[in-house]
Amino acid sequence: MNRIIVIGGGIGGLTTAALLAKAGLDVTVLEAHIYPGGCAGTFFHQGYRFDAGATLAAGFDANGGMTRLGELLGIAWPVEPAETAMAVHLPDGAVVTRWTDPERWQAERRAAFGDAGETFWRWQERTADLLWRAALDGIPWPPQGLADLQRLAATGLDIAGRDPWRLPGIALDAVRPAAARLVGLSAQLRRYVDGQLLISAQVTADRANALYAAAALDMPRRGVVHVRGGIGKLAEALVTAVRRHGGEVLFRQRATRVCVRDGQPMVVETNKDAGFEADAVIFNLPPWDATALIDAGRTAEAAITSRTSPLPADAWGAFVVYAGVDEGIIAAGAPLHHQVLVREPLGEGNSVFLSLSLPGDVLRAPTGCRALTISTHTRLGSWWTLFASDRPAYEARKAEYTDRTLTAAEIALPGLRGALKLLLPGTPVTFQRFTHRSRGWVGGFPQTSLFQARGPRFGPHLWLVGDSIFPGQSVLATALGGMRVARAILATAGRRVAVVAPA
Ligand SMILES: Cc1cc2nc3c(=O)[nH]c(=O)nc-3n(C[C@H](O)[C@H](O)[C@H](O)COP(=O)(O)OP(=O)(O)OC[C@H]3O[C@@H](n4cnc5c(N)ncnc54)[C@H](O)[C@@H]3O)c2cc1C
Repeated sequence: MNRIIVIGGGIGGLTTAALLAKAGLDVTVLEAHIYPGGCAGTFFHQGYRFDAGATLAAGFDANGGMTRLGELLGIAWPVEPAETAMAVHLPDGAVVTRWTDPERWQAERRAAFGDAGETFWRWQERTADLLWRAALDGIPWPPQGLADLQRLAATGLDIAGRDPWRLPGIALDAVRPAAARLVGLSAQLRRYVDGQLLISAQVTADRANALYAAAALDMPRRGVVHVRGGIGKLAEALVTAVRRHGGEVLFRQRATRVCVRDGQPMVVETNKDAGFEADAVIFNLPPWDATALIDAGRTAEAAITSRTSPLPADAWGAFVVYAGVDEGIIAAGAPLHHQVLVREPLGEGNSVFLSLSLPGDVLRAPTGCRALTISTHTRLGSWWTLFASDRPAYEARKAEYTDRTLTAAEIALPGLRGALKLLLPGTPVTFQRFTHRSRGWVGGFPQTSLFQARGPRFGPHLWLVGDSIFPGQSVLATALGGMRVARAILATAGRRVAVVAPA
């Protein structure tokens, strides 16, 4: 089991590829686009480098997942620590700064949500500390074999050994929403938590699983950094690592078919009429896109097609505005990331996340200007209906969403409209075109239930990686998922190689 083909050069695919190449396997990554990173890529347009989706990077603290990955692969990430993760602008005009320093954050949240809110934050931080500690050693959730069960049992025993009184609460939180922890607390706190969970768990507190929410809300405490040159530099560093360890990364190679036949190596075909033999294939794709590629003939793998659920009708996509901005409107030392909550229900321009390039980052913008990415959650359906049946109405909706998004963004950046140098809107149609994810579905599954989480095993010698598998979305989570897949493949190949450095 030596030849590995990874379809997709997103963070999940590249992490797995680099670790497997380092372990000595023959690894080739096929990437459809001309640059790596997918939803965490950075693209060039008219003098600017815009982050396509992800903008905020975490996991770079002393013992963080990205730090460990860098150590394993010999990567010196081009990052610098951030003082603030973001400023959150609430509907009543209040601004809550999410400081990365724990004491400043505690003082900030006490001022914003009162002492009563501390019960919630204490629960969140203590729970997150337990979960993140386990996550760094790899939480094999959902378990997909005896080895996973053994590791999970060891994690449970570890938690029980350190904090036995917390086990009943953890068991309850495993099956209830985060809202259960907010009962009786202020509407302002609930609104803040809802906004944060929408971007980190794809769902608000009434539906987000409490354990997942505790860990997701902790991102700003987990080594937030700024990436010079754009977040795509992380994927570029992973490409270099794959190559340095003897693997290949091929761009403009879109996989079009994975041919699976009993007793024979698989063959991955691409749009360039190339065919790559493989003993194992890793799909850095949503499950339905992976399924669509598999041609299993009459083999047992044909059953995969019927097992894969379709893309949910109410799935989220993103509407994004990329803008070049005169930096005269940006106060010196102001946070680079802002979340603006205008009104509920959140999403559809009622809430936006905006991120500016670092001051003086000449790789990203001409002198005196900044690259800005503004995004909002949007349901996919209407965009595709209009795109298919009424192009003028699709364009009109795009213009309306651009306007709404800019109006929300102006709350954080007054004078934004007057400072625009360049404006480039992107819809789910755009995301499909550039990430090849069907219908532009991005952000992963809403984290409503731990028992609906998906593991990486997709079929015999077929694996999934990326934000469709646990622990879900984000650069850090997809990297952690990538480490799990690498470890699992090496275990099936009978190799024991350190994929996650010991704590
Ligand atoms: C608007 C937005 C904002 C976000 N903000 C943040 C944030 O601030 N912080 C954060 O950590 N995360 C954020 N995320 C989430 C994060 O970007 C994703 O969870 C993560 O990047 C997904 O990685 P992935 O491994 O699933 O791969 P993807 O990013 O999905 O990449 C898959 C790759 O596969 C390629 N591909 C697809 N089909 C084929 C094929 N047939 N053949 C070859 N190649 C193919 C694509 O071109 C792509 O490069 C955001 C996402 C979005 C959309």
